[in-house]
Amino acid sequence: MREDLAQVVDLQDLDLEIARLQREVQRIPREIADGEQVLNSSRGAWDQSRERLAALEQFRRRKERELEDVTAEQRKRQGRLFEIKTNQEYAAVLKEIEGLKERRSKLEDEILGAFDDIEAAQSAVRDESARFQEREKVFQQERTTKEGELRRLQGELERLQEERRRQANRVEASLLQTYQRLLRSRGGLAVVPVKDGSCLGCHVALTPQTYNELRKGEVFVICANCQRILYWKG
Ligand SMILES: [Zn+2]
Repeated sequence: MREDLAQVVDLQDLDLEIARLQREVQRIPREIADGEQVLNSSRGAWDQSRERLAALEQFRRRKERELEDVTAEQRKRQGRLFEIKTNQEYAAVLKEIEGLKERRSKLEDEILGAFDDIEAAQSAVRDESARFQEREKVFQQERTTKEGELRRLQGELERLQEERRRQANRVEASLLQTYQRLLRSRGGLAVVPVKDGSCLGCHVALTPQTYNELRKGEVFVICANCQRILYWKG
């Protein structure tokens, strides 16, 4: 292979590897952010379970206060029974007492029901808390691993970029300019091998004449379709 062609082939290899590392370097923070989002939704579920428990406890306290009020009311009416003079009034107060008794019984049922709901809600809080803590542990481990991987990739990327600078300095100026232009306009692929008679950049077959020139390796061969620099990979 011509020396100048070999130089841009090496440069292309470095640029492909750099592009691959750059994608990885960009991917890792996104993965960490995704993991954080999952963790946040788990924290949200835990918060919700605690809010539900608090609401149930509030409901129970309200019903207990109501029960105290109704009980006091009933006691007051019962005290009044002794002071009543007429049968009619007596019957009316008794009826009121019956009504209060019914309300008490209904409130007592509601309070008992609330205790069952609270117990279930407490168990849900424990479950969500355990789930969140487990996920948080896993996430922190993953993040530490990914951050380590990111630092390693960044170090590798810096090393390759330095190597790339050295390699670019070896390439003759006008060829480097052509290479850079192709790299930008051809999606990071300026120099490509030929396989089974076709350009691997655009997959269009070479003419027999171009193919022969390429195999001889004496001149620079450009793909007639995509203008990329071609090389023969024997
Ligand atoms: Zn091509």
